[in-house]
Amino acid sequence: MKVTEHFAKANGKTLVSFEVLPPLKGGSMQAIFDTLDSLMEFNPPFIDVTYHREEYIYKIRPSGYYEKTAIRKRPGTVGICAAIMHRYKVDAVPHLICGGFSKDETENALIDLNFLGINNVLALRGDARRFEDRFIPHEQGHTYAVDLVRQIANMNEGQYLDPDIVNGEKTDFCIGVAGYPEKHFEAPNFETDLYYTKMKVEAGAHYIVTQMFFDNRKYFEYVEACRRVGIHVPIVPGLKPITKRYQLTTIPRKFFVSLPQELVQAIMKAPNEEAVRQIGIEWCVQQSLELKAAGVPCLHYYTMGDAETIKEIVKRVGV
Ligand code: FAD
Repeated sequence: MKVTEHFAKANGKTLVSFEVLPPLKGGSMQAIFDTLDSLMEFNPPFIDVTYHREEYIYKIRPSGYYEKTAIRKRPGTVGICAAIMHRYKVDAVPHLICGGFSKDETENALIDLNFLGINNVLALRGDARRFEDRFIPHEQGHTYAVDLVRQIANMNEGQYLDPDIVNGEKTDFCIGVAGYPEKHFEAPNFETDLYYTKMKVEAGAHYIVTQMFFDNRKYFEYVEACRRVGIHVPIVPGLKPITKRYQLTTIPRKFFVSLPQELVQAIMKAPNEEAVRQIGIEWCVQQSLELKAAGVPCLHYYTMGDAETIKEIVKRVGV
């Protein structure tokens, strides 16, 4: 079933969903099953699986020289999606990015997904690779997520890249895209970012999932701004609890989001790491309860390998 069909079926009830990361190369599928086994009691209708493009690393050679090598540390997104659907009978949402893909490779990946019966996809641009100062698209690939959305929407109309394909099978992908309550870090301002987000919806995106945020006002204001400019698709809040003191600096640096002073002060005063975790859990529970009371379609939790914490939160939120 499509993500938007799950929202429609829920009839106003707030759903809960999770995002998981593929294990590091060499790891086992069991790590994903261990995470999800403990979260299945909450009946998530869908599970997102992130996509990780290759990264550059520097390896030291016996000669003493460094060699720049491209490796994919977390492959397996499509296989994990198929395994999740098979084992849990829930829908899987693979993330698909522009970075590293030619349009042809994207088309082939979408054909694989279609043949596997996966009809949801979160369409993203992806970030710059490590050691690159900006996002560089594949020479034959897409520069922005909106271009990827257009390609998927075209396939939903039976239009493939090869114009000689007539009467091509129409895929039926439900397309999600990313949204940024605190604006995307590269955007010159909030309104411009909103303009491009609207473009993604006009190109065929069916719903938006937000970047994490720690102040619900940011989400509510974002939804209001989206509605004001004519974006009327469901907007799913993305949530992540703080569980470690060092995240006070790593989360803003990695995700370009701010942390409310009240939360920061409480964490700074916490006597130990367990107290930090409890403060983070409490904060996320309160965020979730308020969002649920406001009738959001779904609470989407970024598990980031910490199923135990997410389980504690969702249990208390009671979805
Ligand atoms: P876009 O929508 O293309 O926007 C990128 C920037 O370009 C923005 O500043 C936007 O304002 C601007 N822009 C957009 N369109 C245009 C245009 N036509 N002309 C000029 N400017 C434009 N990354 C991964 O690598 N793998 C994942 O699995 C993954 N999952 C994610 C899940 C969620 C819910 C979120 C919020 C992010 C995720 N990311 C993931 C990170 C994402 O790839 C980065 O945030 C990336 O920098 C932007 O992706 P986007 O799809 O929002 O890009």
